[in-house]
Amino acid sequence: MIKFLDLKEINDGLSREIEAAALRVLRSGWYIGGNELQTFEDQLSCYLGAGQVVGVSNGLDALRLIFRSYLELGRLNVGDEIVVPSNTFIASALAVSDSGLRVVLVDPDPNTHNINAMGVRSAITPRTRAVLLVHLYGRNAYTDEIQELADSHGLLLIEDNAQALGASHRGRKVGTLGNASAMSFYPGKNLGALGDAGAVASADPDVIATVRSLRNYGSSVKYRHEHKGYNNRLDEIQAAMLAAKLPFLDIENQRRREIAAAYDTRISNPHISLPQIPSDSLEHVWHLYVIRSQHRNSLIEHLSAHSIESIIHYPIPIHLQAAYSELSTQPLPVAESLASEVLSIPIGSHLDDNDVDTIVDALNRFDPRK
Ligand SMILES: *Cc1c(COP(=O)(O)O)cnc(C)c1O
Repeated sequence: MIKFLDLKEINDGLSREIEAAALRVLRSGWYIGGNELQTFEDQLSCYLGAGQVVGVSNGLDALRLIFRSYLELGRLNVGDEIVVPSNTFIASALAVSDSGLRVVLVDPDPNTHNINAMGVRSAITPRTRAVLLVHLYGRNAYTDEIQELADSHGLLLIEDNAQALGASHRGRKVGTLGNASAMSFYPGKNLGALGDAGAVASADPDVIATVRSLRNYGSSVKYRHEHKGYNNRLDEIQAAMLAAKLPFLDIENQRRREIAAAYDTRISNPHISLPQIPSDSLEHVWHLYVIRSQHRNSLIEHLSAHSIESIIHYPIPIHLQAAYSELSTQPLPVAESLASEVLSIPIGSHLDDNDVDTIVDALNRFDPRK
């Protein structure tokens, strides 16, 4: 069986670093808010090359804390409209609606799977205050045109960088391109903790200070509370796991690029479309390698008959979810057609070259008429 993702295999490769870090925390007797967190935050801000980092409980909370900070700082107000891609993971939208802000869904460019300036422009109204730029599947979504739109309309650019840590845009790391960014270290992300974890990055000291306070009951000095905050902390054990694994992220991402390059050059089947981007581009870290087919169900069966796992990201668009029934009347044809055609095939350092050969061969032999 070729697994879609094999966390045991990926983490076994780093077992020396991971076990040493776990033992260090265990023996320190200090489990929340200590050196491990500080070390990881510094290490990640070095890696990003700009701004400061605040470790938090998970990716959804990282996004929620960003929106809540802008509300606390008076730079957003309840009811403001936030542009969100129609084809993203639901957490992107949940963070917006949980903050009392309005989700305005925009269809992506069908080739990049990311929103573009044209889509953003079409969604802007006098109440639009921010764009949630999701770097979907690991691919940078930031462009100069989107920045110009944000500048000319006074919009905040908030990056959902749950999937693209390590990608860059003309030498600047994704996650440092907008006003603030959220990261997820859910175990299956390119940099995965051994549990839930996330982070906020920003070059804006007010956002950083507010997120720091909000994650800790709204307090920056013990027993003094300047905000009605939460408990959204990143614990020492997860911070230590992440600090142990971050030095290997670029190696993981490079292996993903190698596999993407093999898929790009060797998969050739008229019933399958491939992602449209040079596989060596530094703008992509290939969190997912997403193909499209109008015969997706038979393709899934065919792969499974060859012992290859595949997963749909994401089968039901946000506006067709029961939770967002108020958005269901908006026509979002690209989101709907992507949801019916996309399929993610295995990618990651758990695959060896034989696995890649097997996957390529199986895809090339797929014929929906058989
Ligand atoms: C994973 C993910 C999140 C949420 O992160 P969690 O750590 O699982 O809360 C948010 N947005 C996107 C695009 C994601 O892929």
